Amino acid sequence: YAKASGKACYALFDTAMHLKAVARLDLETDLRQAIANQELQLNYQPISSLETGNIEGFEALVSWQHPQQGHVGPDAFLPVAEETGLIVPLGHWVLKEACMKLRQWQQTFPHAHSYFITVNLSSRELCHPDLVRHIQAVLSETQLTAHCLKLEITESTILDKSEFVLTRLAELQQLGIQLCIDDFGTGYSSLSYLQSFPINFLKVDRSFIHQLETKENLEIVRTILHLAETLDLEVVAEGVETINQLLQLRALNCQHGQGYFLARPLADAQIELLLEKEERWYENSGCTVSLPQ
Ligand code: C2E
Ligand code: MG
Ligand code: MG
Ligand code: MG
Repeated sequence: YAKASGKACYALFDTAMHLKAVARLDLETDLRQAIANQELQLNYQPISSLETGNIEGFEALVSWQHPQQGHVGPDAFLPVAEETGLIVPLGHWVLKEACMKLRQWQQTFPHAHSYFITVNLSSRELCHPDLVRHIQAVLSETQLTAHCLKLEITESTILDKSEFVLTRLAELQQLGIQLCIDDFGTGYSSLSYLQSFPINFLKVDRSFIHQLETKENLEIVRTILHLAETLDLEVVAEGVETINQLLQLRALNCQHGQGYFLARPLADAQIELLLEKEERWYENSGCTVSLPQ
């Protein structure tokens, strides 16, 4: 009996493994086509000043309009893209599209010149030998100035990286591109790397912002802000979902925020409507969103 059931288990396991492998292969094939067929789309989520509510820039977030499955979020396909190396052409597309879009907005809306765009970089992209040259080429092709581009790298991505990557990051920074640590606080880091890496921004992970009412999270965020000040880094709070979180962050002197309370990630056409409206706001008062004083 034991033997029989053991066998059945194996059979089940094999089937499950097999199905998983097939699904993964399908995803890989589909993703390859998606890149070629322009099924990928960028959404842009505003990053705003917590003091004034004014938009300061946008984070480009990729999503996939799958012909059968509909909308597929990045968490569902980026791991496969990263494993297979498809992340490199995908990332090239994202970078170019994002830079082009911001440049276009700058040409259409005079006040958009001060905006920045942030693009996420995966581990594999970061290690690619052509990284710096490629980014330079995209900037010159799209005619976007380097200081309008920020790159986001997660804490866990940066941690195990070599001297080689560190040098590349320093080169990017020398071009005028700013570097952000994404999801800050979720890596298991000793903080010593903050000194050795050339960084400009910390993006505090939304898990800390989510329950800012709890004493622990409040103290963690306070400590991060203090640390950032000491190291001369700017801070963006991720996942600001409520007015209370915003007010608490503001009281802690956190300068920048991103999250559903301020704005959701929006398609380019929606951003353009926002910028049009904003332009009128600017003419009148210079403030875009009415926040409590
Ligand atoms: P991330 O870089 O930390 O991006 C922020 C994520 O939080 C986005 O999820 C965004 O939609 C979500 N978010 C923003 N505000 C709120 C909020 O108030 N509450 C909650 N609950 N969530 C909020 P999304 O678009 O699903 O992206 C997930 C991750 O996928 C990103 O995390 C980033 O690591 C990665 N990613 C997205 N686009 C790209 C890309 O073009 N290239 C690479 N390499 N990674 C990307
Ligand atoms: Mg990010
Ligand atoms: Mg993040
Ligand atoms: Mg994240």
